[in-house]
Amino acid sequence: MKNLLDTKTILSILYLEDSQQDFEIIQELLIDAGYRVSIDRVENEKEFVSSLLRQSFDIILSDFNLPGYDAFSALRKSIEICPEVPFIVVSGTIGEVTAIELIKLGADDYILKDKPERLPYAINRALEEVIAKKALKLSEKELRKSEIMYRTLTENIPDIVTRFDTNLRHIYINSAIEKIIGTPPHSFIGKTNEELGMPTEQVSIWNEQLLHVFKTAKQRKIEFSFLTSGGVRYFSSLAVPEFSKDGKVVSVLSVARDITERKKSEVELIKAKEKAEESDNLKTAFLHNISHEIRTPMNAIVGFSSFLNDPDLPSEQRQNFTDIIVQSSNQLLAIITDIISVATIEAGQAKTNEKETNLNTICKLLNEQYKLKAQEQNVFMSLKTNLSDNDALVITDEIKLTEILANLIGNALKFTQQGTVEFGYSLEQNALKFYVEDTGIGIPPELISEIFTRFRQVETTSSRQFGGSGLGLSISKAYVELLGGQMWVTSELNKGSVFYFTIPYKKTIPSNLSINHVNSINKESNKSKTLLVAEDVDSNFVLLEVLLSGIELNLIRAKNGLEAVDICKSNPQIDLVLMDIKMPVMDGYEATQQIIEFRPDLPIIAQTAFYTENDRSKAIECGCIDFISKPFNRESFISKIKQHISK
Ligand code: ADP
Repeated sequence: MKNLLDTKTILSILYLEDSQQDFEIIQELLIDAGYRVSIDRVENEKEFVSSLLRQSFDIILSDFNLPGYDAFSALRKSIEICPEVPFIVVSGTIGEVTAIELIKLGADDYILKDKPERLPYAINRALEEVIAKKALKLSEKELRKSEIMYRTLTENIPDIVTRFDTNLRHIYINSAIEKIIGTPPHSFIGKTNEELGMPTEQVSIWNEQLLHVFKTAKQRKIEFSFLTSGGVRYFSSLAVPEFSKDGKVVSVLSVARDITERKKSEVELIKAKEKAEESDNLKTAFLHNISHEIRTPMNAIVGFSSFLNDPDLPSEQRQNFTDIIVQSSNQLLAIITDIISVATIEAGQAKTNEKETNLNTICKLLNEQYKLKAQEQNVFMSLKTNLSDNDALVITDEIKLTEILANLIGNALKFTQQGTVEFGYSLEQNALKFYVEDTGIGIPPELISEIFTRFRQVETTSSRQFGGSGLGLSISKAYVELLGGQMWVTSELNKGSVFYFTIPYKKTIPSNLSINHVNSINKESNKSKTLLVAEDVDSNFVLLEVLLSGIELNLIRAKNGLEAVDICKSNPQIDLVLMDIKMPVMDGYEATQQIIEFRPDLPIIAQTAFYTENDRSKAIECGCIDFISKPFNRESFISKIKQHISK
C-alpha cells in the first residue's frame, strides 16, 4: 500500500479549477512545500466526473465557483464516487457560513486563495485522517474476522464455553450446553448458577472456583456433574481469568469438557481391579481348601494302605481299613470331578446329553443312597415324588440331573445336624420344580446370593467345620441353566434352607426300557460269551479281571488298538469289547472305527480315565455304544457289562 505521508511518494491530485493562473500558483506552492505531485486539472463537471470514474486520486482540490458548476455539486459527486478521498475547497470568495456548510456536507477543509500557505498543512492533516480511517477500518475488519472465527469455533466444539462476570453471572455460553442439557444458551445469560437452579453442592463448587480465579487471577481446574435426561454426566472445567487494560480480572472464561466416558471406564477399571483381587483371594482360599480336601482322604489312603501289608492284621480291622480307603478314594474322586466340571463349564464346553429318563427312578435311587448316611446322623430323610412312573418319564440329561440333586442332598445332610431332609419335585406350568429342604444351619441373608459363586463358602476360616470345595453349587447352578432352568434358595439362619431348581418338562412316550427291566440278566446266559478287553496298563487289566470274576466269561486281552482290531478279525465269537481310549500304537477311537467297519453289530464300550462330556460324545461318535469312566464304580460297572453282554 502507498505511504501517503512519505515525501518520496507522488501524490495524485485532481484539481477542479478554471483558472490556469490559480492552478499554477497552487502547484508551485505544493512543490515548494516539498510534495511530489501529479496534478490533473479539470475545468467543468464533465471532465471532473470522467476523471473520478477513470482514475483514483489521493486528494481532490476544488475551486468554489466554476462556470456552470460549483464545489457543493463536485463534493456530492466525489462522495458518491470515492467517499474515502479527501476533498479540500480552494476558493477566493467563500464566506464562513458556506465554508461551514461545506464541512458539514463532508469536505475535509477549505483554503482561501489569498492565504494558500495553509494548503500543505490541510493536505497533510487530510492524508493523516485517511490513513487513520483506513487503519481503523482494517482493524475493525480483523476484529470482525476474529470474532466470526472465535464464534464459529466456540459454537462448534463439544466443550461448554462459559464467560462469567464479577457477579458470577453468565455473560456468554455456547450452544454445546443445549446439546448436553437441552436448555438454550439464552436462558443462561444474566443469571448465576444458583438462579439457574443448579444443586447447592454444585453451586458451591463453581462459586469457589470462580471466586478463586477472580481473586488470584490464576486459572483453576474443577470437576462437576450435571443431571441430564440421559443420566448423570461428568465434566472437567478449566477456568481462566480475562483481564481489562489496567490488569484487573473482569471476567472468567470456563471451558468444560465432558469426561463421563473416562469416568465410567475409571469406575469400571476400579471394579475390575476389585473383582480381580476378590477372585484372587477366592482362588487362594480355594487352593487352601482344595489342598486340605485332597490331603484329608489322601492321608487316610496312604496311612491305612500301609497297614494292609501287615499279615497279622485281624480280618475285621482289615475290612474296616479297606472301607476307609474306598470311602476316601471316592471322596478324592469327587473333588477331582468337581474341578474338571468347573474347568469344562468355564471353557464353555459343558454339553447336555438328553435321553429318556425316569425321574422317579433317579429320586428313589438317590433316596436309597443317602438314607443310610442320614440315619447315621440321626436325620430323617424323605422323598416326595409328584408324578406317576409313566408321567415321570421325561427327556433330560440323567447324569447332570442326578449330579445336581446329589449335590443338594449331600449339602443338606452336611449342614444339618438334626431334624429332617426332604426332597422331591412337582410339576408347575410345564416345568419340573425340584426342591431339597433341610432343617440345618441355614445361610446368613447377606451371603445367599454369594453361595452360587465358585469357591464361595459361608465359612472361610481355617477352622472350617464342614468339608467341601465350594464348587458344588456353582456347578449345579450352571448345569440347571444348561438344562434350561433356574436355581435359587430360601433360607433362615439356624432354621434351615430350601434349594429349588426348575427344568423344562419334556414328557416322553413310555418305551420298553422301563426301570424294572434294566439289569435283570440271567447269569447262566453269559457262559459262552467272549469279552475282549483292550487295555495297555497291566494293573488296570488285573483290576478288570478281578471285577469280572463274578461273571462267567471268556476273557481275551489286547494291549493296544491295533491288537484289538486284529483279534476281532480273527475271533468272530467275540460278543463285547471293552475299549480303553488312550493306548499306544493305535488309540481306542481309531480301533473302534476300524472294528465296526467289519463287525458293525459288535457292541464296544469305551472305558477311559478321560471324563468329560466331550470324551463321552467323541466315543459315541466313533461307534461305541456306551462309556464307562475310570475309576470304576464296582456295581455300575458290572451291571453295565451284564446289560450289554446279555443282548
Ligand atoms: P461346598 O463344597 O463347600 O459345600 P457348595 O458350592 O456346595 O460348596 O456350597 C457353598 C456353600 O454354601 C457351602 O460351603 C455352605 O456354606 C453353603 N451351603 C450350601 N448348602 C447349604 C445348606 N443346605 N445349608 C447351609 N449352607 C449351605
